Formats: sequence, C-alpha cells, structure tokens
Amino acid sequence: MLKCPSCGKGKVLSGYLKVKDECGCCGQELHHASVDDGPAYFTLLVVVAMIFPMFALIYGFFEPEPLLVALSMMALATVLALFILPRVKGVFIGLQWAKRLYGF
Ligand SMILES: [Zn+2]
Repeated sequence: MLKCPSCGKGKVLSGYLKVKDECGCCGQELHHASVDDGPAYFTLLVVVAMIFPMFALIYGFFEPEPLLVALSMMALATVLALFILPRVKGVFIGLQWAKRLYGF
C-alpha cells in the first residue's frame, strides 16, 4: 500500500506523511501527487465505523465506567487513525497515479 504505483518496489512516502519527489527505485515522479484531505476523511470514516460497534460490544458484555470507556476509545481511535492514515494516503496516491489525475 505504501509502495510506488509504477514499479511496486520504491516507497511513496518519506517520513510519516511526506510524499517523495520521485520513486527511489524507478524514478517515477510523485511530487505532483496531491491527495489533500481525502485520506484524512476516509481514515476518519473507517475509524468511526470500527469504533462504534465496539461500544455496543463492550456495553453488551460489561457495565464499565462511561468515562473509562470514552477515554480508552479516544486512545484507540487515535492509534487506529495514526496507523491507517499513511496507508490510506499511499492508496490514494496510487489511485491518482493510475487514473492520471495529476497535473496535465
Ligand atoms: Zn517506482
């Protein structure tokens, strides 16, 4: 998911969310890939979709402190989002490249 869409070997991101100028492997230019907030919205959607059923599950089996649940869910959501975001971004860049959506 985080690999160059052209050769599938080089990495697309340098650092956490920084898009590389070009693939270090095949030289495919990546700097014009601008996916903006798309990945962030998508990540939010996925995280929310994952968290809500967990609330139902937890309250189905236990009777936990609401504050405790809220806090642990916030922590979980943050970790999930941080884990998913770079991967979603890689996918968006790949899709953009595949559909030639970048600067003509
Ligand atoms: Zn490449």
